[in-house]
Amino acid sequence: MGDTFQTIVDRDATPHDAPRLARSVVDLWVAEGIVLAEAKPGWGLSDLPAHPPGPHWHKAVDDARWGAPEGVVAYTERHVFFSMLDARDPSTSCPRCTKVADDSLLLSEAVEQWHRTGEADIPCHACGETAPAPAWHWSDDHLALAHLGFEFWNWPSLSEEFRARTAELLPGHRTAFLTGKI
Ligand SMILES: [Zn+2]
Repeated sequence: MGDTFQTIVDRDATPHDAPRLARSVVDLWVAEGIVLAEAKPGWGLSDLPAHPPGPHWHKAVDDARWGAPEGVVAYTERHVFFSMLDARDPSTSCPRCTKVADDSLLLSEAVEQWHRTGEADIPCHACGETAPAPAWHWSDDHLALAHLGFEFWNWPSLSEEFRARTAELLPGHRTAFLTGKI
């Protein structure tokens, strides 16, 4: 069995904007009864407290029959979000020339450095340009380096409609959707 997660990430929120944006999203979900207002410890597999599901949590998912959802964690600080699905061949490509990076050690060092300091540039072997790690394209959203994310623990599949509605609350920002099982 194991535990599943689905994370909606805002790739463009700045450290300054993330707490405000998180509040506006959670406020709307609370108003719709999707989550409860008060985040509590023990509702998700995260060190952070999570918002327990609200009375209308089923409005966020495709098929509520399978559900015993746990909490939703709102991350508002620098975080490396990841997905964990088998049978994929993740790649990372340059945001300028779209060539796939071939040095996985360099990538993991850059991710680690960004996590530690908030700054890391990755040079592209193909075009010679350098771009910040969060700007690189991570195939199938296997990774997202960002300051804002909402992690749903053990929820049935979030519906396209719910994800689109959430993205509308983050206008002009790119979002990533990461899923996994641990
Ligand atoms: Zn390049």
